[in-house]
Amino acid sequence: MPQTRLTDRFGRTVNYVRLSVTDRCDFRCVYCMAEEMTFLPRQQVLTLEEIARIARNFVSLGTEKIRLTGGEPLVRKDILDLVTEIGTYGLRDFAMTTNGSQLPVMAEKLRKAGLHRLNISLDSLDRDKFRNITRTGNLDQVLEGIDAARDAGFRGIKLNTVVMKGRNDEEIPELIEFARAKQVDITFIEEMPLGEISEHDRGLALCTSDEVRELISEHHELIEATENSGGPARYYRMPDSSIRVGFISPHSHNFCSTCNRVRVTVEGRLLLCLGNEHSVDLMRVLRSHPVTDDKLRQTIIDAMDLKPERHHFSADGDVEILRFMNMTGG
Ligand code: SAM
Ligand code: SF4
Repeated sequence: MPQTRLTDRFGRTVNYVRLSVTDRCDFRCVYCMAEEMTFLPRQQVLTLEEIARIARNFVSLGTEKIRLTGGEPLVRKDILDLVTEIGTYGLRDFAMTTNGSQLPVMAEKLRKAGLHRLNISLDSLDRDKFRNITRTGNLDQVLEGIDAARDAGFRGIKLNTVVMKGRNDEEIPELIEFARAKQVDITFIEEMPLGEISEHDRGLALCTSDEVRELISEHHELIEATENSGGPARYYRMPDSSIRVGFISPHSHNFCSTCNRVRVTVEGRLLLCLGNEHSVDLMRVLRSHPVTDDKLRQTIIDAMDLKPERHHFSADGDVEILRFMNMTGG
């Protein structure tokens, strides 16, 4: 049992950490990145050993759930070594968020290395639209990746869809049928104003979860699920399917009061809230105390006092946070 629990000023226990393992990606999704990106130089990026050291210390402070994300986690070289290492920490839940492009070759290896669950992003089932949204992505490869993940026998697979009016909102019924046929959960996400983008007006493209739910209700009855993951998603079930349909609604439904998570960027910045700029530099602490972990643990404990009560996203698409999602670790 961990000796210490991480608790913030508002009585929330933090037991979930999302670790970004790279800011790089083979896609350039319009809501996440600019077309031309400058990525971090190697010395500003945590090594895999440093990421594991951070993970280990969070686990010693009561963390039960870790999610690896990015950027695209599967483009980081030797990512399997990190998965294997974290897989030995006895976590209740060990997951990864991926765009799926590398899953045809990686799914089974990840499962064998100890990963429990996968979230796979899928915004369109139309090749051209998929290419349009991801700029560089290949839909067939991702679909193959989803099948490889199913074959590998993960504890859970969930699709993530960012819904944008005029880009993929009319595909919601098809995406639901796809998830039902593949027997995987699906979550619809409202686009968040992270980083400045030029491709579309976020205020106009915002498709609220209530709108998405209404659209689905035309085809399937949605029954609010009794279980709650403790996270930002609200889940529903359909009478004739075992899959769950989730909604993440930073604009229309504030989920801050039950927030149990923090993020660590690949630069080692501990972010206490997705929608605020507060952060603590763990890389500096790590590198100035290479042998013992006392200072690192105390820095993490003290950082909890900085966790703000709530995020501040506005629905008109104004950028309030200058970091892009690939830097944040979505
Ligand atoms: N590359 C992986 C992927 O795409 O799944 C993991 C990192 S990605 C940043 C994590 C999730 O954040 C993806 O599901 C993506 O759709 C979502 N995302 C990125 N930018 C977003 C934004 N501005 N608003 C809402 N979701 C966003
Ligand atoms: Fe890459 Fe994921 Fe961002 Fe798309 S959402 S550009 S796949 S990091």
